[in-house]
Amino acid sequence: MGLCKCPKRKVTNLFCFEHRVNVCENCIVANHAKCIVQSYLQWLQDSDYNPNCRLCNTLLATKETVRLVCYDLFHWSCLNEMANQLPKNTAPAGYQCPSCQGAIFPPANLVSPVASVLREKLSTVNWARAGLGLPLIDEAETVQETDSPDTTDYTDWRPPEMGLL
Ligand SMILES: [Zn+2]
Ligand SMILES: [Zn+2]
Ligand SMILES: [Zn+2]
Ligand SMILES: [Zn+2]
Repeated sequence: MGLCKCPKRKVTNLFCFEHRVNVCENCIVANHAKCIVQSYLQWLQDSDYNPNCRLCNTLLATKETVRLVCYDLFHWSCLNEMANQLPKNTAPAGYQCPSCQGAIFPPANLVSPVASVLREKLSTVNWARAGLGLPLIDEAETVQETDSPDTTDYTDWRPPEMGLL
């Protein structure tokens, strides 16, 4: 437990492993968006951390990230791709954190800075809108017109058959 450094001076048990400071959720959202944050207890046990995205094993800092309410951090593109590969009829509970199997969707009654940033990000994609109970949006991708077999009218042109008779 400790006090965070932002004006809110909150008592918090969260700790930024990269900056080695106590952080509250407001601190995380404002100043530690791409930092590994776990409980202070965890830090005391093992201050090592993996700065990579678990889904692609490259540095989190290199791309846009998303933090789940379990505080695990992933590249947004990696998480989005993973979720897009799940069958469309997957129940919301089937969308799980790849690290700890916690829920990807924040519980409806959870009000917190991390949850609201997460909800905002999730509401940009349809797999997540479905899970959040939001109406689906038209995604920018153009719907591929079903490729009907080519019916263009090229009637075979044959040279007039001369001299057959
Ligand atoms: Zn704070
Ligand atoms: Zn930090
Ligand atoms: Zn990644
Ligand atoms: Zn997790």
